[in-house]
Amino acid sequence: MTQEQSLPIEETIRPKRLEDFIGQDDLRDNLRVFLQAARERGQALDHTLFYGPPGLGKTTLAQIMANEMGVNLVTTSGPVLERSGDLAAIVTNLGRHDLLFIDEIHRMPPSVEEILYPAMEDFKLDLIIGQGPGARTVKIDLEPFTLVGATTRIGLLTSPLRDRFGVICRLNYYNDTELATIIRRAAVLLNAPITGEGALEIGRRARGTPRIANRLLRRVRDFAAVQGGQRIDAELAHNALARMDVDAHGLDQMDRRILTTLINHFQGGPVGVKTLAVACSEEVRTIEDIYEPYLIQCGFLKRTARGRVATPRAFAHLKLRIPPSFAA
Ligand code: ADP
Repeated sequence: MTQEQSLPIEETIRPKRLEDFIGQDDLRDNLRVFLQAARERGQALDHTLFYGPPGLGKTTLAQIMANEMGVNLVTTSGPVLERSGDLAAIVTNLGRHDLLFIDEIHRMPPSVEEILYPAMEDFKLDLIIGQGPGARTVKIDLEPFTLVGATTRIGLLTSPLRDRFGVICRLNYYNDTELATIIRRAAVLLNAPITGEGALEIGRRARGTPRIANRLLRRVRDFAAVQGGQRIDAELAHNALARMDVDAHGLDQMDRRILTTLINHFQGGPVGVKTLAVACSEEVRTIEDIYEPYLIQCGFLKRTARGRVATPRAFAHLKLRIPPSFAA
């Protein structure tokens, strides 16, 4: 069995070492120092928080940190940890210096968050057993561990939790060249011959996001395969992406639906995100976490105190006329 067949594709192409992690140069350089220092001191890494839009490499970095430290990685996520006992069961099983990754950490219930504070600070757990007058507190010592949290919404983190992270890193969107490098690396692992121009064509439309770059590559690879295993060049990539309805800015159908709804139903805004979400039949959280950050980054959408507003650039991109009443 080839490596690709035995592992989900996503895992096959996920970088395992810091040297394979492309882009985010400052963050990577800093992490390299922190990893080396922790190794030399024989200590666990400091608790680390990664924040930024989805698909930029937060989970990947957590895995890389565990690999580089030679420790186990235990993965969970905020919404899964419903009760304090769920977290207690996990942290009491952690080995010395193991890494606990909590994705979507902003969605952890307050009761769970509270037991995390002493666990992060003193590697101790204060558990309340029982209820009412018979309730008692049990203190449990934990092995020193590293918590790596990831969030798309740092603003929703409480400050006591945020303050307990020694390292807080923001991940930014990638530029086209970095994405092309990521695509070329993934193409080698997927055994899909690609030209530099082909990789750049896909990279340009990947919304600054490696996860999307890899997804587009896999679809373009399908088009190449049915065309007799052709090499992916700029033309093949361009045609395949056009057939997938991904436009020159990387906007997909949903991005365009958000903008056209904003423009056609609400005269370009301002409109509240909840109303916009209902009109687009999409969840508020999905719009806020996935679509909006990139539309804002591209200068197609603005968040204002009165709601979301389309920019003149959005009208131009969609080839729509700006109404006289519009004042963005
Ligand atoms: P997040 O946790 O931020 O949502 P992930 O870490 O799951 O994002 O990244 C999504 C995919 O993108 C990964 O499977 C990985 O293959 C790829 N990826 C992310 N960042 C990089 C990078 N800097 N270099 C190469 N590939 C990357």
